[in-house]
Amino acid sequence: MRVDDSDPRGIPAGSALISGRIFLEHKPPSDHPESPARIKAILEKLGGIVKLVEPRQADAQELLLVHDEEYVSLIQSYSETGLGGMIDPDTFVSSGTWISALHAAGASMQAAMLVASRAYNTAFAAIRPPGHHAHPGRGAGFCIFNNAAIAAAKLLAGGVASRVAIVDIDAHYGDGTAHIFYEDPRVLYISLHGDPHLYYPWRGHLEELGRKEGLGYNIPIPLPPGVGDDGYVRVIEELVAPILEDYKPDVTIVSAGFDTHHRDPLMDFELTVQGHWMTAHLLYKAAHRASGKGLAGILEGGYDLRSLPLSVANFLAAYEETPLYTEPKPRGIRAKSGRLEEYLRRARRMLSKYWSL
Ligand SMILES: [Zn+2]
Repeated sequence: MRVDDSDPRGIPAGSALISGRIFLEHKPPSDHPESPARIKAILEKLGGIVKLVEPRQADAQELLLVHDEEYVSLIQSYSETGLGGMIDPDTFVSSGTWISALHAAGASMQAAMLVASRAYNTAFAAIRPPGHHAHPGRGAGFCIFNNAAIAAAKLLAGGVASRVAIVDIDAHYGDGTAHIFYEDPRVLYISLHGDPHLYYPWRGHLEELGRKEGLGYNIPIPLPPGVGDDGYVRVIEELVAPILEDYKPDVTIVSAGFDTHHRDPLMDFELTVQGHWMTAHLLYKAAHRASGKGLAGILEGGYDLRSLPLSVANFLAAYEETPLYTEPKPRGIRAKSGRLEEYLRRARRMLSKYWSL
């Protein structure tokens, strides 16, 4: 399958990419899909055609907005002894993990601030290690610190926002992010992800809607295997956008994983790079209608090195009327439209108890 990755017209000036070589320092074992090559590919492809912002380092107090002190110290000591460590069978700490992870959290806060202040229409933190599976006291699923949660908590703590939406478009449910804000209506968490009966992290069932004051503000939308561009468009137009506009977040953060791409080695969704643009475009329009502001993206998954930079570029161009990059549609879409219909119907029935849909 040929990807049209000839140099595009350039990323428009209303976009900023926060990234740098510091994110190559986190080094899981060499055969791990969450590799430094992901950031390398993004910097090589986009470094020269976008406004590149130097990432800053988070300080300890900022990490503690979300994480337990013991866990933060554990990551620091695993890194600084130079011996590294294993957090779970998929999640590793190397000597460079601490410094990468501090900058990942820092860059994520920068992206959120740049959009909150209307400095940019879109700001994207191309960082690693990723964050959405990280809980307050434990990392998991390749994730060390929960970058999106830290960015949201920072906006709230600094009085920059009183309501923040996190829309998670990674193929997996961000169980860490969901858990962190499960009782907190100040953060609306919406996730599109593979059906948890079939996919990691085996959470994110429709019934997981939040607790206490947070009830109704945690919105898991499970999807069937093989879902593609059309499925994502339908979910966003029919469920996500109306809920966002109803909630009226001051700032919208996207946990932007691109492992929904049809060539991704870990997942079996069927999205294209133009599907990633369309997803971001629809979210941008909904966020803009709700708050007059754009979208802050934070990288989560996405392991196909050829499409990843193109998807990031297309995210940055969310406010344009056409994608920067396109590719032919994959053949043999596996999702039966009937099954998608059934998933959508169930989600609508559940969510309309809390939102006007
Ligand atoms: Zn993922």
